[in-house]
Amino acid sequence: MKILVTGGAGFIGSAVIRHIIDSTADSVVNLDKLTYAGNLESLLDVSDSGRYAFEQVDICDSAELKRVFHNHQPGAVMHLAAESHVDRSIDGPAAFIETNIVGTYTLLEATRQYWLGLDDSHKDTFRFHHISTDEVYGDLDDPDELFTETTPYAPSSPYSASKASSDHLVRAWSRTYGLPTLITNCSNNYGPYHFPEKLIPLIILNALEGKTLPVYGKGDQVRDWLYVEDHARALYKVVTEGVVGETYNIGGHNEKQNIEVVHALCELLDELRPWQGRSYKDLITHVQDRPGHDLRYAIDASKIQRALNWTPIETFESGIRKTVEWYLSNLEWCGRVQDGSYQRERLGATA
Ligand code: NAD
Repeated sequence: MKILVTGGAGFIGSAVIRHIIDSTADSVVNLDKLTYAGNLESLLDVSDSGRYAFEQVDICDSAELKRVFHNHQPGAVMHLAAESHVDRSIDGPAAFIETNIVGTYTLLEATRQYWLGLDDSHKDTFRFHHISTDEVYGDLDDPDELFTETTPYAPSSPYSASKASSDHLVRAWSRTYGLPTLITNCSNNYGPYHFPEKLIPLIILNALEGKTLPVYGKGDQVRDWLYVEDHARALYKVVTEGVVGETYNIGGHNEKQNIEVVHALCELLDELRPWQGRSYKDLITHVQDRPGHDLRYAIDASKIQRALNWTPIETFESGIRKTVEWYLSNLEWCGRVQDGSYQRERLGATA
């Protein structure tokens, strides 16, 4: 099968593409606009493969989408392209409305036109898989409650509201037009190639430079952390084995307060990169909380476990150690993101 992956130069999209090229016989077309979050250097291990192609395209550009569908004839779409950083959505929501809502609509329409032109057997096997977030459910008050696939939507931030809108569009294109769609809602991911503005890489890189480690409020926000390679395996299972029209929640059963995550990172760095007898915890600084910050997210992932026999391989302890070790061994990748050279020298970019 040939899979069109949107947002394949991002954190999760690049993990999905590495998984498909390394562990399956399928081919990939990576369709990505290459915003600040897109980094083709995250794909250097696989981009020489004859089963990999890259198209620098904006999902809001319907003519370009039509050309890509026509030229590549994919059997499935995995849609990850999005504006994804909550803080940026608070400072400037417009790009989130444009890409996450208008872009998803434009991609759905381009996909539908292509799908309508397929012969019956290819029409039946075609899949449109929309990758979304647990943030669409809002936050949980009851400490025993978990998000299930039927939890009502109650997004809090411009980011989560735009993702919720895109989920509704995908469901409507399935119900109204019969497009064979699947939706997944996943908890917080962490792991290699994560853009340094996000909590875990930010803490690691700031600590190594002796900078303060900013923690929102008391750091008591609870997130369910999933190692990105476990997520990539789950997504591939859903697009290849999932039941059309279904939603699957994906989570790691690793509920941690942000402050616990920061402490775990400091302790690993104290062990792996000791700092002149001091602990990196000395650098922790509590900063004013984000407006509208959800307190707790937690996923019930039993449906995907039952239906598709997927469970995460990594525990939080094994995954976070792998992550810290990866950053310590890949400071060059981080440096090129931090100094902007990854954008100036777009390797293999077509435009
Ligand atoms: P990311 O920000 O790292 O990557 C997004 C990618 O999309 C980038 O390569 C960017 O260049 C591309 N892109 C942005 N706008 C585009 C456009 N208009 N046209 C084409 N490409 C465009 O994001 P991520 O963390 O890899 O997340 C991927 C998806 O997974 C998103 O849809 C996000 O909502 C969802 N998700 C993320 C998490 C998480 O913890 N990171 C958790 C659950 C769900």
